[in-house]
Amino acid sequence: MFWTWLCGKKLDKVAEADLPLTEVPFRWQSQGGFSHPQWSSIHPWVFCSYPPAQQPGVYRALTTAWLERVCHEGGAGFGLADSRHFRLLSPFSPTKSKMFLQFFEEARRRIDGLLGDLAFRDALGPHVVMIFRNSQQYWKYASHFFGDGEVGGQGGVCVQEGYVHVVSYDQMAQSLQGILAHEFVHNLLVHRKMPLWLEEGLAELLPMQMRLSAGHLGDIASEAGALRQCWQKHGLTDFWSGESFFAADERQKASYQLSEVLTRLILDGPNASRFGEFVAAAERTDGGERAALSVLGYSLNDAVSKFLGPGRWLGADRA
Ligand SMILES: [Zn+2]
Repeated sequence: MFWTWLCGKKLDKVAEADLPLTEVPFRWQSQGGFSHPQWSSIHPWVFCSYPPAQQPGVYRALTTAWLERVCHEGGAGFGLADSRHFRLLSPFSPTKSKMFLQFFEEARRRIDGLLGDLAFRDALGPHVVMIFRNSQQYWKYASHFFGDGEVGGQGGVCVQEGYVHVVSYDQMAQSLQGILAHEFVHNLLVHRKMPLWLEEGLAELLPMQMRLSAGHLGDIASEAGALRQCWQKHGLTDFWSGESFFAADERQKASYQLSEVLTRLILDGPNASRFGEFVAAAERTDGGERAALSVLGYSLNDAVSKFLGPGRWLGADRA
């Protein structure tokens, strides 16, 4: 359920509702020492109990209850800081929190401006960003959302269920800002249910274009040979479905790299002026192929063949 997309035009000067928390149907699931609210029962309660005008204030109060609990579970030194559109939970000093909140506001302004109508605009709650002390603590929190299966390494994630929020951990400031800008693009696009490769391509490219990130995929040009070999070996079936982005092997990084390459190829290809239309029409179920054919006028097989070489890249059959 995605009722609380967090974009924020309605959030200016939202006062926290005077919410009797005992009445909130909070149910929590515990994992890794952290509590996770069961938003599937909270969202309908908000919508049934409060008129639209009061819902932003209610969500502000709900996020306070939620984040104060996570703050307590995170241990000494965690704090909560707010800006106009964001709530940040982190172990940072007030000065460092303020610096990051300024970065988030600037990133939001620039990315939202670039995405235009593609970005979600009907937010009810604030953007929530959680930064944990280190990767171990991050995984204790984030493992709740990934099930038991092994997943590849991550620097951050945009949790797309319940109440959409961005999670990462303390690391070098510049790379952390790049990761957060990447995840924030997801934050503004997840409602569209576009193919994951396209969302990842945009999440990587837009922050670079806006000079919010230097990119974290390494020098793709110098790794192009290995990238081609990887996909010639594995085929692209799991790339189009999105599964390869969670692989615990070489395919994970190769998926992010290929998503950037393919998005660039489309932006440089025929009918690039219709790219926004393509993004709006692209569906997860077919990897975006129908939208490519109808909007761009060519198959994704043609686009990806420019980099990987000729082949039947759309099906299970490989070149
Ligand atoms: Zn991503």
